[in-house]
Amino acid sequence: MNPVQRKSRSQSKMRRSHQHLKPIGSVRCPNCGAAKLPHCACNDCGYVRPGLKLSLSKDE
Ligand SMILES: [Zn+2]
Repeated sequence: MNPVQRKSRSQSKMRRSHQHLKPIGSVRCPNCGAAKLPHCACNDCGYVRPGLKLSLSKDE
């Protein structure tokens, strides 16, 4: 099936204006206040949730 009439460049771009990536959300770490990804351990302090904290090795 072919389209009856070709859409203009503007029409195509308007249709594709919804096809974009959403920005990755970030939350503040309640422990140290740094930005971190939700449901992930904090990069700075290793905080995940109350009662769970990962020990980070900073020897890189
Ligand atoms: Zn933190």
